[in-house]
Amino acid sequence: MKINFLTLYPEMFPGFLNYSLMGKALEKGLWSYQAINIRDFATDNYKTVDDTPFGGGAGQVMKADVVDKAIRSVYKKGALLYMSPKGKPLNQQTVIRLAKEDEITILSGRFEGIDERVIESWPFETISIGDFVLSGGEPAALMLTDAVLRYVPGVLGNADSVADESFAGDGLLEYPQYTRPAVWNGKSVPEVLLSGHHKNIEIWRKEQSKKITQQIRPDIWEKYQEKL
Ligand code: SAH
Repeated sequence: MKINFLTLYPEMFPGFLNYSLMGKALEKGLWSYQAINIRDFATDNYKTVDDTPFGGGAGQVMKADVVDKAIRSVYKKGALLYMSPKGKPLNQQTVIRLAKEDEITILSGRFEGIDERVIESWPFETISIGDFVLSGGEPAALMLTDAVLRYVPGVLGNADSVADESFAGDGLLEYPQYTRPAVWNGKSVPEVLLSGHHKNIEIWRKEQSKKITQQIRPDIWEKYQEKL
């Protein structure tokens, strides 16, 4: 899996993806990345990448010509993503679909965003990581990449771990997890988990998943019930 990051801040990459599982996977060559500095494609002596918005208003807008040249320099195939609060909210289905690509190119905006014409000129899929506004797309690009890489074969130690977690399989949130000691701070772990009775553990976990989803995410719960 190859990831191309288009950004004004290439030094932000690979960021936290240099650590832990993703860092090891990067070392092993299970994925690779390139961070392209959009500013390298500015055409004037001042290396200008932004300008004031037509129609007025606060902030600056990233220039179409500069961003277009940056895209042209790297994008050949695979998924082309623009991180934006105006995008489709990222979810696990999208993550799983993107994990099937060999190459993903991700454009991160800064300021008030990017001249709309350049977004329209390429086959962009616009993706949001949630209903809030960041100061730049870079953390969003890193988050999306982290979620996608978990599905790249060999990246996670245990092949089962992506199948049995929140949003996977039945789509419900995951049940609570516990580890040793069995009693901590006067609190015992649920008896059934110590029983070694796999069927009962499975039933308990499913019940917990349902309960938590119902409480925390009524939207997901509703969809789950519709599917039954
Ligand atoms: N003016 C824009 C916000 C610009 S924020 C608006 O109101 O919609 C600057 C950049 O941060 C954006 O170009 C985008 O790349 C990134 N960004 C901000 N919030 C984001 C989010 N929720 N998801 C993905 N990217 C986001």
